[in-house]
Amino acid sequence: MKKMMEMAEKAYENSYSPYSGIRIGAAVKTGSGKIYTGTNIENASYGATICAERSAVSKAVSDGETKITAVAVTGDMDGYAYPCGICRQVISEFMEADMEIAVSGRGREMKVFKLKDLFPNVFIIDRGGK
Ligand code: ZN
Repeated sequence: MKKMMEMAEKAYENSYSPYSGIRIGAAVKTGSGKIYTGTNIENASYGATICAERSAVSKAVSDGETKITAVAVTGDMDGYAYPCGICRQVISEFMEADMEIAVSGRGREMKVFKLKDLFPNVFIIDRGGK
């Protein structure tokens, strides 16, 4: 998880965040063992902004990787870079509830949570095993 956190930190160097000024980076490990990184990409139309986590997940899924086994998120900010609600929902689409999400922030000790503790009672659609 430490290596992933370092990769997330490096990823936020490419952050496009002229509005908030907060740079966020994420790294997601996939079922094949590959690690994808992402950063926040803001937009003048604020709702069009994409978070670092969804940026990383999009890269992974676009490469055909639909299992996520770990997530690390950090930011150039005073507090912890916890994933927002939308990102927790998106991560839960591809990650088992017992898998871990690590969060950090500038000068902060890394904290590790299971997905089910950060995002309990997930919205799912039963597709009948499909
Ligand atoms: Zn988010």
